[in-house]
Amino acid sequence: MDDAEFRRRGKEMVDYIADYLLHISDRRVTPEVEPGYLRSMLPKTAPEKSENWDDIMQDVEQAIMPGITHWQHPRFHAYFPAGNSYPSILGEMLSAGLGIVGFSWAASPACTELETIMLDWIGRMMSLPVAFLPFDPHQHYKDSDDSSFSQTDDDDDESSEDRSVGNDDDEHFEQKQVEHIGGGVLLGSASECILVAMLAARTKKITSKRQSDPLMEDGQILARLVCYTSKLAHSCVEKAGLIAMVRVRQLAVDEHFSLRGKTLEESIRADKEKGLIPFLVSGTLGTTSCCSYDNLKEIGEICQREELWFHVDGAYAGSAFICEEYRYIMEGLQYADSFNTNPNKWLLMNFDCSCFWVRDKFALINAMSVDPLYLQHKHAQQAVDYRHWGVALSRRFRALKLWFTIRSYGIEGLRHYIREHCRLAKVFELLLSADPRFDIIGDVTLGLVCFRLKGSNKLSQKLLLSLNDSGQIHMVPSMVNDLYIIRFAVCAKHATDDDMHVAFHVIQEHADNVITEYRV
Ligand code: PLP
Repeated sequence: MDDAEFRRRGKEMVDYIADYLLHISDRRVTPEVEPGYLRSMLPKTAPEKSENWDDIMQDVEQAIMPGITHWQHPRFHAYFPAGNSYPSILGEMLSAGLGIVGFSWAASPACTELETIMLDWIGRMMSLPVAFLPFDPHQHYKDSDDSSFSQTDDDDDESSEDRSVGNDDDEHFEQKQVEHIGGGVLLGSASECILVAMLAARTKKITSKRQSDPLMEDGQILARLVCYTSKLAHSCVEKAGLIAMVRVRQLAVDEHFSLRGKTLEESIRADKEKGLIPFLVSGTLGTTSCCSYDNLKEIGEICQREELWFHVDGAYAGSAFICEEYRYIMEGLQYADSFNTNPNKWLLMNFDCSCFWVRDKFALINAMSVDPLYLQHKHAQQAVDYRHWGVALSRRFRALKLWFTIRSYGIEGLRHYIREHCRLAKVFELLLSADPRFDIIGDVTLGLVCFRLKGSNKLSQKLLLSLNDSGQIHMVPSMVNDLYIIRFAVCAKHATDDDMHVAFHVIQEHADNVITEYRV
């Protein structure tokens, strides 16, 4: 493909994508294919000779599209939203076109610097605790619109110190500037963020244990480490534990599906009595199962007392914090050592785009730094080298799509998008609550509604099977405190009231059949 053909084919591709998204509702939400379907449609070996572009695109329609689950479809209500928007797609396109690999500042200064600035922008948009953000003496946070950095009224904890960044006292500014060691980075997934937090926490605890008990070897400490999370935390916490070779305790939640301090405290006490070493708590704001929230304040106080790293996973819910009215949810976040959220879920960014903030960047660097000669550069002392902040060396220029999308929509446009999804979830909740055959499980606070048919778990299982098999709508289940529930997430970018009504109507029709067929 030469320059001229790239120009032509690139324009065609933009048309193809725009047409696909415009007419997506004409397609089935989920594919009707069996595992291995594609192998029979494609040649066994790669072509020896160059092929015609038209033939390739024809095969996209004939072979690939039949196996696509249409995540942007208005009837797709599974998992959480998969972010998508035209500015973000264009950001991805430019990133691919530049073809850079930004592992260090020197490898492409704009890639690193834009990333730092975007993490700062988003942190401010969400009103995150100041400890996570690069210090900027010229920013008067307390004056900025809808970004007061005062999500709690506590005066007696670390957050009051954090919030004092807005103080006009120059001497104080200078002191804070020297001390400030927080910051953010873009990683490929929430799973990666949680793994990285675990690795940093693990190194920190092993180092401090070794100092207090020089006779203990690293391996002996590692074998005793314990991480705590809730039963409803995403499975990536368990996976991170497998990789880091540490125990992960999945603790029970209360009747609001929230991990409480008392449960955590009891588990820590029991483990310490056995000679084990607690080192990390991974709390969740917006669980995948039912969008419940752990009690960060209670957990945070325990973490502080017990000297445990406190990570908070807000992969989905975090985006809502750009709206002031949802910031009450993050009460207690000021105790966290690290926090992650996925703009590629609910902030109109394409996958991949996970934000990870940390209170002490040196905890990451201590856990993950290696420094071969070929990666060193003369600005290493003054610049950020993100290769020390994660697992991968090579890094994509993800910040471009953030920059494009935030500027194109403005924070106002993004807030409108979040608020619309939350409003539509309420519309759907109201429809469900008017039908006495359904129970709504948990509170509907953001864009997720969890429900089930009254009666046995089997009945709701049958309902979901029937709905998903029909290809009319797609949802996934979850299990909370032994109840099988169906999760309805508002996902489509331009979801409407009508979409809620159509979805509810489809669910009602299938419920009629399932109840007739299976209820005795
Ligand atoms: N944490 C929560 C709360 C999630 O909902 C998810 C995925 O849905 C994850 C973590 C894992 O996200 P990722 O696919 O980015 O690893």
